[in-house]
Amino acid sequence: YQVPNWSGGWFRVSDKGQVDVTPSPGLHAPLRAIVDEIVNRGESLPVILRFPQVITGRVKHLNEAFGKAIAEYGYSGHYQGVFPIKVNQRRVVVESVAAAGYDYAHGLEAGSKAELALCLAQKMHPDALLCCNGFKDDGFIKLALWGRTLGKNVVITIEKYSELDRILKQAKALGVKPAVGVRFKLHARGSGQWEESGGDQAKFGLNAYELLRVVERLKEEDMLDSLVMLHTHIGSQITDIRRVKVAVREATQTYAGLIAAGAQLKYLNVGGGLGVDYDGSKTTFYASMNYTVGEYAADVVYTVQEVCKAREVPEPVIVSESGRALTAHHAVLILPVVDVTGPTRDLEDLPPASEDSHQIVKDMEEILGNITGRNYREMYNDAVGDKQTLHNLFDLGYVTLQDRARGEALFNAILRRIAKLIQNEKYVPDELEDLQKVLADKFICNFSLFQSLPDNWAIQALFPIVPLDRLNEKPTRQATLVDITCDSDGKIEKFIDLRDVKATLPLHEPGSRPYYLGVFLMGAYQDVLGSAHNLFGKVSEAHVTVRPGGRFNIDLFVRGQKARRMIESMGYEEPMLRDAIEDQADAALKVGTLSTDQEQELLDDYGEELLGYTYLEYEN
Ligand code: PLP
Repeated sequence: YQVPNWSGGWFRVSDKGQVDVTPSPGLHAPLRAIVDEIVNRGESLPVILRFPQVITGRVKHLNEAFGKAIAEYGYSGHYQGVFPIKVNQRRVVVESVAAAGYDYAHGLEAGSKAELALCLAQKMHPDALLCCNGFKDDGFIKLALWGRTLGKNVVITIEKYSELDRILKQAKALGVKPAVGVRFKLHARGSGQWEESGGDQAKFGLNAYELLRVVERLKEEDMLDSLVMLHTHIGSQITDIRRVKVAVREATQTYAGLIAAGAQLKYLNVGGGLGVDYDGSKTTFYASMNYTVGEYAADVVYTVQEVCKAREVPEPVIVSESGRALTAHHAVLILPVVDVTGPTRDLEDLPPASEDSHQIVKDMEEILGNITGRNYREMYNDAVGDKQTLHNLFDLGYVTLQDRARGEALFNAILRRIAKLIQNEKYVPDELEDLQKVLADKFICNFSLFQSLPDNWAIQALFPIVPLDRLNEKPTRQATLVDITCDSDGKIEKFIDLRDVKATLPLHEPGSRPYYLGVFLMGAYQDVLGSAHNLFGKVSEAHVTVRPGGRFNIDLFVRGQKARRMIESMGYEEPMLRDAIEDQADAALKVGTLSTDQEQELLDDYGEELLGYTYLEYEN
């Protein structure tokens, strides 16, 4: 499962074969024990475990990495991050970032009016930046300006030229001096899945000509000192550090150009993009990154300094809008495996082929009995041909349903036998490469992919998935995962691998004890992008603090959305639903399909489900 490669030290496998969360040296707690505690309290799964200590650790890690690079290079400015709350607006996340970042004057970034309203209410260091990105109307701008009067260091980023007029107009009307940033469209591009965020065709930002017009316009207004920040962003999850360096060089040259044009910028904002190594491969593959946080900070500081020295301009305060890298690690989605289906689950008790069985079934039985280490390839090809014939004959009415059942089970048994024979072979014939996938069991997990891991469905994002315990036991199953939505897209068939992507995940045979999988590094973007497909709602969550001695506290347990809330979000009202059911029950009572006792029980059960969790609730 490659835990040491992707965990960044925030998780480990213990001697007991369990996954522990390890928020700082000496602090560790087994995830299994936390989940067991939640279940013992009578709560239902699935659940997201959130570890605010991990957020604190990530905020420190980033700030200290920049601090170290700044000290090492003798950089004369400092670093001041901002957290783009769109990455995860959950209260516990924003408050944890704000608290951990207070001493570093780590700020926030809002991309909409609602996000700004949320950010303004946060306690922040007086120097901490509150950057306002995204397209803006007058209301957005006014709120940002009011923020300055509240003593917050609000900077309004101009994303398109026409916003400048709006800002000037509102600032004059309110009598508030604005602090303005300007987003520049770098020609440099990122790497990986968000490459399109940079480059000339990017959605946001001004070109070089527009940038100079902003300077001229502010000069005319005698407000050039309001232009405080140059902002750039070449996309999230930048996998290749060389792209970062190229972009930062271009951004710093632009900064120097603006200084030469008379601007007195204080901040150079290099945007987001600091990656997360989801597969642990440390490569430029889209789910990885070929650099560390320390290398990122060092390269940004070094490049900015190098250009500033060459251009003889002051070294600016370096701002980054890292989001993913701060929050991905803090959350683990716990999936209970509720059932297993698939070829290795074939019923073993099918009646043996009889004298009357079709010849094709007898042939397949013979293949099964004759497979050896020498002939498995030939036997495989024969079996594939026979299965095809079996189905053709069934379609034409020559094979009974019983014979079809027997033939299909035999085919799977043949594949299983061959898979066993070749499991340790170095060379596997091409046609057998997919055997593991064909033979994979489907582990049915109690969750909705669309609600909890939307990026896996939408953009094939990979997340490490690991059983919470039994890690000192060799897994005996190859599995794919399916969720409980009625949508065939609700499945996970790609798993992390150091060299490539794996089609199956090795898992254990679930026993009498509940078997739980953890989906890791899912704390960025997933919470807010999730959707209510099949009316599966927000998952319950537990906020957990790890204490010395392997102990932990569940500080807060927030129950997931109830069925009623999901139904109401579609425009229905609860009394209307209850009335409709009562009317139907009364009518049923009259025609005698329901007794008086049953009517009450029915209404009670209906009411209970309205108030219940939207996920499967099995007694553990
Ligand atoms: N800043 C801007 C302008 C963005 O669009 C984004 C996301 O793409 C971010 C910051 C956050 O990026 P990341 O989560 O990769 O750090």
